[in-house]
Amino acid sequence: MTPALAVLEKTFGYSSFRGQQADIIQTVIDGGDALVLMPTGGGKSLCYQIPSLVREGTGVVISPLIALMQDQVDALSAVGARAAFLNSTQSPDERRSVEQAFLAGELDLLYLAPERLRSAADLLDRGTIALFAIDEAHCVSQWGHDFRPEYLQLSLLHERWPSVPRIALTATATEQTRREIAQRLDLTGASQFVSSFDRPNIQYRIESKAQPLQQLLSLLRTEHAGDAGIVYCLSRASVEKTAEFLRDNGIPALPYHAGLDTAVRSSNQSRFLREDGMVMVATIAFGMGIDKPDVRFVAHLDLPKSVEGYYQETGRAGRDGLPSTAWLAYGLQDVVQQRRMIDTSEGDLAHRRRLGAHLDAMLALCETVECRRVQLLGYFGQVSEACGNCDTCLAPPETWDGTIPAQKLLSTIVRLKRERNQSYGAGHLVDILLGKQTPRVTQYGHDSLATFGIGQDISEAEWRGVVRQLLAQGLLSVEGEYGILVITDASSTVLSGARKVMLRREAPKRSKAAKKAVAAQLPELALPLFESLRAWRSAEALAQGVPAYIVFGDATLRGIAVTRPTSLEELGTITGVGEKKLEQYGEALLGVVAAA
Ligand code: ADP
Ligand code: ZN
Repeated sequence: MTPALAVLEKTFGYSSFRGQQADIIQTVIDGGDALVLMPTGGGKSLCYQIPSLVREGTGVVISPLIALMQDQVDALSAVGARAAFLNSTQSPDERRSVEQAFLAGELDLLYLAPERLRSAADLLDRGTIALFAIDEAHCVSQWGHDFRPEYLQLSLLHERWPSVPRIALTATATEQTRREIAQRLDLTGASQFVSSFDRPNIQYRIESKAQPLQQLLSLLRTEHAGDAGIVYCLSRASVEKTAEFLRDNGIPALPYHAGLDTAVRSSNQSRFLREDGMVMVATIAFGMGIDKPDVRFVAHLDLPKSVEGYYQETGRAGRDGLPSTAWLAYGLQDVVQQRRMIDTSEGDLAHRRRLGAHLDAMLALCETVECRRVQLLGYFGQVSEACGNCDTCLAPPETWDGTIPAQKLLSTIVRLKRERNQSYGAGHLVDILLGKQTPRVTQYGHDSLATFGIGQDISEAEWRGVVRQLLAQGLLSVEGEYGILVITDASSTVLSGARKVMLRREAPKRSKAAKKAVAAQLPELALPLFESLRAWRSAEALAQGVPAYIVFGDATLRGIAVTRPTSLEELGTITGVGEKKLEQYGEALLGVVAAA
């Protein structure tokens, strides 16, 4: 058995490495540099934690996420590793005692905020460094959204400590970012490990918006009762409204957005991390570096601005590898609103074009009739096969020939423009097609148009679907403050009959794709024990003031609930039960099993 595998088993209680972990870890143990691209939940932490435990000296971890250092240190201490951090939140006394422990060779891992590197350099010189780990390495990229100027200094590591191996890690996928990281961190000679970006345990589902809050509530009640999750909204107001709605319906939910007091924000974040089954309703300001492994669902109530953003946000679900849901409800109004935001945004034309292209890619994902995962991974340059675990795979949408409705809509737009120099948004155009005598129709005499009432063969909801899908296929475009619809260069091929338009049928009811919640997937017999174990874990976490997952992850509790161990030896074979935790909790757990 290699030393790495021994640590994996004894300290972390896992039986085998995942994906490329073994190769990465061996590279660093042997003193080599590594650049690691792995999706969220892929298991990056072990890639530097195990070499830090195996090599002589302390592994120094550079991380920008100061707020999370305490939890990382707690999680390591819980498995018996010696870890500490140095950042600006500490008093001089606290810092001094950490420094002493480091110099005395009493630390396996030391977390360091990047801005402390310069002041800590002399200290590091006087101790023994096992390796440098550069977490969230994409922060060095000036073009990315998470740029941290202090990260540029990290090239200094190699100049000052040329013989110490370095490992840089990120979940950001694009080729360009990878090149930039290698260059700026002086890691062009490093071994590169690029994992698949697939997250097979996440079920992707996208449905059209009818009554979004009710749709959300039904998702939470039927599939995710008692589960922790994140709900993303675009605006602060809708965050507040949604959190209140959930609480009124008996679901523990907290708001998180930039308009809240710092103290409220950080208390809500910490409750989300610590309490079981909490739902966080947030703007996208929330989530970076959130390590909570048992987030069972990520729900979007508004259309994300880009596929990258969507993938990053949904990636926060199911880091522990257990089944999880990524659910999105979107409607035509989302497209109109985002288009308006782009049209009125600052920046030059090229910038707005780029935003527009992001939105188009997101729309195409929403309206695809193919496997969502194939589209998502394809977006990141990865070829894959239909996954069997997304809504379109589980309940393939019917398609229908929408050429004639498309022609009716497009020609209404063309006529209004040509004959009257008028442009309108989707609502009014659909009223015309349906032949509704609204005040506006009467006022402008639109009932005399040749296309008035020619679209009564399909419903209003279906018409909105037609509009969305034409937008997604680039056969229509939306503009300006009022979301007016205009034709595109490609529209003429539809009007002339040269191009057929295939559309997906609007799903009349909730998709059959729905899976049972994680707890519900346990055999019926194991459920009561799983619930007692959860309760025991909550009490234990509360007493220690740490997040529940630091005591044990869901995967471990499930393992215990299913196998019902009766001896410490049996208990020790369950995933996530290492030596330290076996000693600390073993008897108590056997007691819970015996009592249930
Ligand atoms: P990342 O930092 O890449 O998002 P983490 O390092 O937080 O992912 O790991 C995600 C989860 O997977 C954690 O709960 C971790 O304990 C678990 N994990 C990692 N590697 C293994 C393994 N080899 N076997 C079992 N569980 C693992
Ligand atoms: Zn699929």
